Amino acid sequence: MKVRTRFAPSPTGYMHVGNLRSAIFEYLIAKKNNGDFILRIEDTDQERYVEGAVDFIYKTCSLCGLEFDEGPNNGGEFGPYIQSERLDLYKKYAHELVDKGHAYYCFCDEERLNALRKEADDKKIPFLYDGKCKSIPLEEAKKRISSEKYVIRQKMPKEGVSVYEDLVYGTIKVENSVLEDQILLKSDGYPTYNFANVIDDHLMGITHVVRGNEYLMATPKYNLLYEAFGWQKPTYIHLPMVNGEDGKKLSKRRGDTSFMELYEMGYLPEAIVNYLVLLGWTSEDSREIFTLDELIDVFDPKRIGRSPACYDVKKLNWINSFYIKKLDLEKLLEITVPHLEKQYDLKDKSDEWVRKLISIYKDHLSYGKQIVELTKMFFEDLSLDDECVEFLKQDTVSDTLSVFKDEISKIEDWNVLSINEAINNTKNKANVKGKMLYMPIRIKVSGVMHGPELADTIYLLGKEKVLKRLEG
Ligand code: GLU
Repeated sequence: MKVRTRFAPSPTGYMHVGNLRSAIFEYLIAKKNNGDFILRIEDTDQERYVEGAVDFIYKTCSLCGLEFDEGPNNGGEFGPYIQSERLDLYKKYAHELVDKGHAYYCFCDEERLNALRKEADDKKIPFLYDGKCKSIPLEEAKKRISSEKYVIRQKMPKEGVSVYEDLVYGTIKVENSVLEDQILLKSDGYPTYNFANVIDDHLMGITHVVRGNEYLMATPKYNLLYEAFGWQKPTYIHLPMVNGEDGKKLSKRRGDTSFMELYEMGYLPEAIVNYLVLLGWTSEDSREIFTLDELIDVFDPKRIGRSPACYDVKKLNWINSFYIKKLDLEKLLEITVPHLEKQYDLKDKSDEWVRKLISIYKDHLSYGKQIVELTKMFFEDLSLDDECVEFLKQDTVSDTLSVFKDEISKIEDWNVLSINEAINNTKNKANVKGKMLYMPIRIKVSGVMHGPELADTIYLLGKEKVLKRLEG
């Protein structure tokens, strides 16, 4: 049987990196098995619908190289792929389930339900619908639905235990007594997630359901639906949670980091994908750098872990800087220059100057926008931190700087070679070397203790600015 997975986002907010990680795992599991990867838009929560969220999903997946074989924009024989366009199907199956005796019409109004909720709250027990309408004879209920508001609820077994195997979490057991007669079809005719996911996964031939572990304990309810219809259950792969740096689960409602935000800051899609796949998954040999194609080869869902993964910007930066080092200059310019232009006036800088500037920072960048902070010495006055100020108080410093200033002022042909010569002459004349030679110069002309090659930096600052800073 052909492996088929789906990414099933709800457009209730902007996709965050945790949602993207699910999409990547789903994609890899399909592609590893030469299977199909499907996009299904789960827009049944109309109240929380966020305009533009679907476009965001498309853009994100496309930039990351996650190509769908089927979906709203790709077509496919199992469409429509947007749940709000499948309402008739859910209705048909929900009513069928009532006829088969696995579901029932419920006419309880909000007032009654609220009272039940309050009762449960007061007793400090979880609220479970009490099944009142289950006893209404089907004939009578069928008459009432033509004139009364109703929902359709799943009839849960009240005894026994439901058991299933999850590929990541192993054997999952849930007492049936805790399973609520959950709503499958709402009074507005929309299905709940709890119903639609089963109907669609079955009708779309999904073989591997890969999703966040918040659904781990609800899955027995879904299995009962598969059984009621006599359908084959999929393989379940529940993914460990992704927590933010504050230790709390990432959430769309909180507006947690989205791919697009990172992309706009000059993180590379291939680096983001690489980083995200490591959130909850490890390779056999602990290797950490992979392209998407390489991942298709090495990804093994059995190596997905159970403990929550933590979104860690430091590690993302490390991986992104690794990818940046491999970029050609044109691509590097693309992710840096727009940020530079936004912040600084580059009118009197030549293209050649900008290209050289960007290239000397290649090994220092964690992400494109960081260029603004790293290069501020070229555009703004210096302000030295305490460590720099302390360093400059050392004995040999003023002599070194005055010799260097002399050497710099003598240069006629301003280039990296002549600047290196000036540094070398300073070394001999002031009789200092290593840190005591380079650091005073670096601090005085660039305001920082670390940066790209000193001669390159000085060259780009220009003779006039360098002399002025040495005088000051
Ligand atoms: N629409 C659900 C969500 O965004 C999908 C969960 C699933 O993949 O089944 O959480």
